[in-house]
Amino acid sequence: MAEKSLRLPENAPGRWYVDDTCTPCHTCMDVAGPTTPYKLLKYNDDETRVFFERQPATPAEEAAAQEALEVCPTQAIGNDG
Ligand code: SF4
Repeated sequence: MAEKSLRLPENAPGRWYVDDTCTPCHTCMDVAGPTTPYKLLKYNDDETRVFFERQPATPAEEAAAQEALEVCPTQAIGNDG
């Protein structure tokens, strides 16, 4: 379970976030990163973390964010922010 208190500051304001336990392993980027139709997640400038560049706005984007949460091996993605 991601931890709200560890939420990365780069995350767009809203419910979904990545916390600082992101490794970053890239797994979620295949689900909701810049090369997907959803483009929700992005690397930070030094590519040490991933963050939500924007919040999901449609049911399909919500589903992609949920899938990213489920595939994250470190449970760094949360939706209770
Ligand atoms: S799957 Fe989790 S640990 Fe891997 S890059 Fe995404 S948020 Fe970070």
